Amino acid sequence: MRWVLIGASDIAATRMIPAMRAVGDEVIGVMSSSSERAAKYASENGLERATDSLDDALAWDADAVYISTTNQLHAGQALAAAAHGRHVLCEKPLAMTVADARAVIEACAANNVVLATNHHIRNNAVVRTIRDLVNAGEIGEVVAVRVQHAVSLPDRLRGWRLSDPAAGGGVIFDITVHDADTVRFVTGREVTSVTAVATSVSGDGSGVEDTAVCVMTLDGGAVVITHDSFVVPHAGTALEVHGTEGSILAAGAMVQDPTGSVTLRRGGVDTDVPVGERADLYQVGLRAFDAAVTTGTAPSATGADGLASLAIALAARASAADGRPVELSEMLVGAAR
Ligand code: NDP
Repeated sequence: MRWVLIGASDIAATRMIPAMRAVGDEVIGVMSSSSERAAKYASENGLERATDSLDDALAWDADAVYISTTNQLHAGQALAAAAHGRHVLCEKPLAMTVADARAVIEACAANNVVLATNHHIRNNAVVRTIRDLVNAGEIGEVVAVRVQHAVSLPDRLRGWRLSDPAAGGGVIFDITVHDADTVRFVTGREVTSVTAVATSVSGDGSGVEDTAVCVMTLDGGAVVITHDSFVVPHAGTALEVHGTEGSILAAGAMVQDPTGSVTLRRGGVDTDVPVGERADLYQVGLRAFDAAVTTGTAPSATGADGLASLAIALAARASAADGRPVELSEMLVGAAR
């Protein structure tokens, strides 16, 4: 697979370029809105080509684009890539509105290109083990999920995320969207409503939330509680799935590396569950993407998954703004908040 990077981003440099090379793919160039930054980024990351023109980048001889610009740019760039016949791996959130996410999905289908959303957490062997335990009925019927995803942002990421609502900053588009995908993945259920409180605990006046707490309902009646934050340095992450017959407790599961542990609790007895091979989360996603292009299988997280997680994030934002529970059906009729 020959990749073009749309966006001279941190995530591409720190995770995706190494992962692309590790799975045997080639990264041929980068597009940035600044020609100087594109040239510097290409030089630092060993890329042959650099441009500040999306049209130029899409004319290069490549199979696929990886879009990791700031969030407000994803949809437009994905539409352009699809129109040029490039397969699309897009960062989350897939778009800023449900209508735009739908347009991206439709354009990729119409142009017969693969669309995937880079929800990496579902690629963690720990998270897949949890899903397998749930599917095998080890905890009976799921009645509750708790997600602890409150962290502290490294200094290098303290830019638009903390200051720019127009770029899609804030913890909901950054972290809650991943929680939403992970909950859907491990339970196989859809979120039906979201009630959220979002606030700036740091009180820096930036206009974006650095903390969000959500209560969600799932089809079938289970509840989900998520705590997401940029300002909690010491908590560590956790994912718990509670059922009628037992609970699954996973420490360190909501992360970028293949770490974490899984404990199955039944009848008052805790058992450590082996998780198998701990492959790099981004490489797992890229291998699934490559297979989707070459054999037509589904990518790890599809465009529809990206739309679903976006709709849940939008419901959280709407609930926090309006102080009321928001039904997912309200979002999915195309409300463009
Ligand atoms: P960055 O801030 O590193 O990059 C985003 C954009 O900011 C770049 O495209 C670039 O624009 C611009 N930019 C970067 N550095 C500078 C600079 N020094 N001066 C001016 N502009 C700059 O963001 P992230 O890599 O953290 O996030 C990018 C996307 O990836 C987001 O959508 C985010 O949600 C997603 N993400 C996903 C993760 C995952 O694990 N799935 C993890 C982290 C992020 P230009 O291209 O025009 O140069």
